[in-house]
Amino acid sequence: MSTTPTPTIEFKPSAHPLADAEREAILADPGFGRHFTDHMVTVRWTEGRGWHDAQLVPYAPLSIDPANMTLHYAQSIFEGLKAYRRPDGSVATFRPEANAKRFQASARRLAMPELPVETFIEACDALVTQDMAWVPQHGEQSLYLRPFMFATEVGLGVRPAGEYLFMVIASPAGAYFKGGVKPVSVWLSEDYVRAVKGGIGAVKTGGNYAASLVAQKEADAKGCDQVVWLDAVEHRWVEEMGGMNLYFVYGDRIVTPELTGSLLPGVTRDSLFTLARELGYTAEEGRISSEDWRRDTGNGTLTEVFACGTAAVITPVGTVKSRSGEWTQGDGQPGEVTLRLRKALLDLQTGAAPDPYGWMH
Ligand code: PMP
Repeated sequence: MSTTPTPTIEFKPSAHPLADAEREAILADPGFGRHFTDHMVTVRWTEGRGWHDAQLVPYAPLSIDPANMTLHYAQSIFEGLKAYRRPDGSVATFRPEANAKRFQASARRLAMPELPVETFIEACDALVTQDMAWVPQHGEQSLYLRPFMFATEVGLGVRPAGEYLFMVIASPAGAYFKGGVKPVSVWLSEDYVRAVKGGIGAVKTGGNYAASLVAQKEADAKGCDQVVWLDAVEHRWVEEMGGMNLYFVYGDRIVTPELTGSLLPGVTRDSLFTLARELGYTAEEGRISSEDWRRDTGNGTLTEVFACGTAAVITPVGTVKSRSGEWTQGDGQPGEVTLRLRKALLDLQTGAAPDPYGWMH
């Protein structure tokens, strides 16, 4: 489907934003995804007309017809990116263009209209500008942006809808690790699969997350924080975690599962190829099986494993549990390479270090 030019965003701000004191109380302990800012951006798409009615309006519930096509056929995609407060008080988002492009790829796979990259970025900018006071002031806190799009046509019958709504909402996010970086424990899902080649695993759509929940419950029951997904055919090759990609550290070589078409191409995963090389490591894609993971941990060649994604940036993986047993990476503490990469990425995002790549917007 073609991308059409969009109207510029019309600002219709709230006459009653949250009082400063109430907002400050939320920002003192924002958690993640619990509170939303005063505004949202909405842009409509209609067959034959393209993108229209771009607006910034007060955050408010939507009214949904029971026969809204998304509720039945799940044409719905989303993104996640963060805006950080810089030392000079200004605010910058991390690689919004990469998220905009992935959003287009998600739209193509779900037979939805592609939002122009500029409109995606303009919408994020508009919301951050209007709700600037919601961007936390310090450290690893940030404002998490959630762009999303879903079918709004009313009617039953399976086909691509003829009407969509694109929106951006924002939620202040606290530091992921309050008491310092702690390794997560993971459960290898050998019975349930997340995605197959040719399916929708490589794009960001709700169905992938719905499919993951039963395995996440299984992980919880096994006392693990997260699920690790294996390939759907051999149940052997490591793909990714529920909401993060994985990197395996072999000394100064870091390896991430190749993009087979059934895992999400993470923006953080991609950024680490560049950052790792800059720090003197070799970064590459490869295939790693659950047996490799276990054996190489045992013989000491696999020195660290970490997960990476927008929400938690970089998270060490400690204990691994599976049907056939359990093992722990190193001494169970965050590894040196993991912590070094984590600091390099966070310094760049928060403006503590220069950005030679032009990633901050
Ligand atoms: N895999 C999945 C399934 C995810 O939901 C995410 C989070 N978007 C990631 C990986 C990491 O992607 P990113 O680095 O772009 O946040």
